[in-house]
Amino acid sequence: MIYFYKTFTKEVFATDTKPKFLVFGILKLVNYLRTLGFDTIYLRKDYQKAIRIAKEEGRILVSQINNLPKLPWILYLTEKKNDLRLKEIFQKLHLTVNEEDIYTRCGACNAPLENLSVEDAEKILPFDIKKCAYLFKRCPKCGKIYWKGEHYLTLKNKLLKLGIMERGKYSLFDHTADLGIEAEAPSLEGIFETLGTALFSELIEGEIEEKGKYTIDVTSSSLEGLLVRFLNELLYKFEVEELLCKSFSCILLDKRILCNCFGGKFNPRRHIQKREIKAATYHNLCLKKKQNKWVARVILDI
Ligand SMILES: [Zn+2]
Repeated sequence: MIYFYKTFTKEVFATDTKPKFLVFGILKLVNYLRTLGFDTIYLRKDYQKAIRIAKEEGRILVSQINNLPKLPWILYLTEKKNDLRLKEIFQKLHLTVNEEDIYTRCGACNAPLENLSVEDAEKILPFDIKKCAYLFKRCPKCGKIYWKGEHYLTLKNKLLKLGIMERGKYSLFDHTADLGIEAEAPSLEGIFETLGTALFSELIEGEIEEKGKYTIDVTSSSLEGLLVRFLNELLYKFEVEELLCKSFSCILLDKRILCNCFGGKFNPRRHIQKREIKAATYHNLCLKKKQNKWVARVILDI
């Protein structure tokens, strides 16, 4: 079956084009796919019409109706929960979520979104946007406004957990008496998330449970400064409040980072502190874009 879809995507679409979808009868999936930047239309009735439109417009028909002829442009889903259905689509079509594609299309009407200035957003939205929202977009067709805020962080955390959004990776390097961490991620936000994970992995032995959510909100005049402040804020939370974090979901705008950290308190029965980490330092600090990845090298004072 997987081979079938591989062949299908290769033949029907050029490799650099995003697939387009026609979802039949699973309304909740429509909003998901549009939010992740996929051109998606919805039909609730008339399966024969759906098959015809999908073929004519080069769309993948996403359906749970399994008793009709299997055609190459129909993707049958077997999962019953929406999150798992989304995962099934991504796995069968070998897709990953690109962070830059999130909120590029209107979840309500499928139109591509336009950028909206902070000044204009301030006039329209009924709350103090400076405290909780970033990067505004507006749908030119239905007028709906989108922004990166709390719901964006929640969505991103869900996509990371489903395994359909690429996580960064890290490795350690020796640096005299200190600890060096090298990270690589598909986005700048991913660097912060990956280094956060690395920090606690090198600090604590034992499973960290995700019992609560903590917010880190720091600013700095440079990106490098922001990274150092972010890591030091995590270390401060550990020292003072004994907070351990397992996963992270960040939004970055200008010189500010807002991060939801998921974790719980240090528990001496479950956790062992592997080493003391005093601080993240500016020494030989490196943060840059390399081809289409972000890379960072940070030295921690231990
Ligand atoms: Zn719209």
